[in-house]
Amino acid sequence: MGDQTNPFESLREQIDDAAAHLDADEGVLTRLKNPERVLETNLTFELDDGSLETVRAYRSQFNGDRGPYKGGIRYHPGVTRDEVKALSGWMAYKCAVVDIPYGGGKGGIAIDPSDYSESELERLTRSFAAELRPLIGEDRDIPAPDVNTGQREMNWIKDTYETLENTTAPGVITGKALDSGGSEGRVEATGRSVALSAREAFDWLDRDIAGATVAVQGYGNAGSVAAALIDDLGGDVVAVSDSSGGVHNPDGFDPRAVKAHKNETGSVVGYDGAASVTNDELLTLDVDLLVPAALENAVDETLARDVSADVIVEAANGPLTPDADDVLAERDVTVVPDILANAGGVTVSYFEWVQNRQRFGWTEERVNEELERVIVDAFDRLVESHEANDVKNLRTAAYVVAISRIVNAYDQAGNWP
Ligand code: NAD
Repeated sequence: MGDQTNPFESLREQIDDAAAHLDADEGVLTRLKNPERVLETNLTFELDDGSLETVRAYRSQFNGDRGPYKGGIRYHPGVTRDEVKALSGWMAYKCAVVDIPYGGGKGGIAIDPSDYSESELERLTRSFAAELRPLIGEDRDIPAPDVNTGQREMNWIKDTYETLENTTAPGVITGKALDSGGSEGRVEATGRSVALSAREAFDWLDRDIAGATVAVQGYGNAGSVAAALIDDLGGDVVAVSDSSGGVHNPDGFDPRAVKAHKNETGSVVGYDGAASVTNDELLTLDVDLLVPAALENAVDETLARDVSADVIVEAANGPLTPDADDVLAERDVTVVPDILANAGGVTVSYFEWVQNRQRFGWTEERVNEELERVIVDAFDRLVESHEANDVKNLRTAAYVVAISRIVNAYDQAGNWP
């Protein structure tokens, strides 16, 4: 796996690349490179043996010019203040690129959740929710799931917030279970936007995704759904991996059967009829489409030189370092950037929030149709921006669109004396 590039520095470089194509005020650009505020705090909670443990937790509110802060909460040992700041910035640009009325936020706790029991995780999550209570709210900041969190944690946060506020406010958090105010289609939404982005990219390149060979790195929520939906489009998934390693079968395999194997055994490794590959081998396999769906910095400059895929669709946030991005642009590899490709999650989170506010649920069909419209429109806008500006790649084109929208909202709000 790649290098230790600081993701916050990567974000700032991406903004600088796009700013070179924009006539924006320097002061406003500085504002767009830094979060508005960051909460960094201790969470002290009781373990099952009665002892106390203290861990570090963060919430970054990056930019609220276009609406409430919005973004997930991650439980991972690698969580740092800078990682959370970067992820909150990517959320602000992601919401702007798909034109949904949110700013960006992100949170995290630096733990390995597999070290804790369910009751310990519940006490820890409720403790985080209590710390977040003054900052979050349906119109202020709306968290969601991210790596190693899901419906269970979202339900706990909603319940803690509603109990402390003595109210009903399901829209304070998204990614909830259906019976707790969640939306149809939310679990599949990120993978769905990855598959739609892949389809649009192949179309743009005058190529057919049917028959394209595909490798997917990371086989959690985003990666496994993307693989299944790309398979539905006729793509041929030939390799997948997770943190334990990868499997490869040049004849292709059924991504849903691999997921069932992972659910049963805890890993894709050992799937019948497939050879083992390391994660680095998977990233450089001779395939048409590569989908990095694990964590940041999966592909660094060195690995980028060996990537054989013609198209990369970023399911993960920040999977390519800026140097890798440059190498891939020079080599004419088409990269559909994370802020569009994985925006399905936040888009259906937005639909969930709309349904919560309306107290009216949509059908899964309506959710998927609206999502497709949002992603296809955003892709078309990206291509227009790519053609209108002399940018190096689709990522810079995306940032040009996103930054323009945020700067416009800031300018139109006018100045306070
Ligand atoms: P997840 O926890 O469900 O899955 C992560 C997967 O990556 C797991 O299979 C894990 O084993 C694998 N992994 C971890 N480290 C790895 C490594 N070094 N090499 C290979 N595989 C590794 O998480 P997720 O929700 O699928 O998120 C994955 C990425 O997608 C993250 O970057 C996240 O920010 C991004 N994302 C997720 C959503 C969402 O709605 N789930 C939305 C937008 C972006």
